[in-house]
Amino acid sequence: MLKRLPKFIDPLVFADRGKELKGEIELDDLQRLADILANHNGKVVVQLSFFRQSRLAGIKGQVHVNIDLVCQKCLEAVRWNSKFSFDLGLVGSLDEADRLPEGYEPMLVKSEEKISLSTLVEEELLLAMPSFPKHEYNCLDLKQSEHVEARIETEEISSNNPFSVLAKLKNTGVK
Ligand SMILES: [Zn+2]
Repeated sequence: MLKRLPKFIDPLVFADRGKELKGEIELDDLQRLADILANHNGKVVVQLSFFRQSRLAGIKGQVHVNIDLVCQKCLEAVRWNSKFSFDLGLVGSLDEADRLPEGYEPMLVKSEEKISLSTLVEEELLLAMPSFPKHEYNCLDLKQSEHVEARIETEEISSNNPFSVLAKLKNTGVK
């Protein structure tokens, strides 16, 4: 079982303590993803390592996301199952952000400022997410052919009905 993650974190204090967090983010907490999620089935598991190495304080994050997004072609659910990592450098100013080692995204924090963990993860999910989520197969054609089939079926039903009515009429008409 994964431990419950704190809702709010103090990144600088956690960096000084070399804290490690691992757990599952509640999908309900990812409010900016609400419109992009097809449903609430799935999981977002994160592992965060806070560290300070001389002047650099940061967070190394790993995310395993397995959720349903809305396919931008057919508007049905499409699974997004991916693992990705990120490196954040905690900075107090834009100057500091410029001095970060390569590969670090700056994260502006003030000392003793608590930040929402789900907002942090949400940000990284939005960055890593496909910009145009869609099924790998040609889902739209498939959906259209389903429509056609459905139409043929209804046509068959409606065209069958007059026959049965006629047949009944015939039966009663003969006698
Ligand atoms: Zn689709």
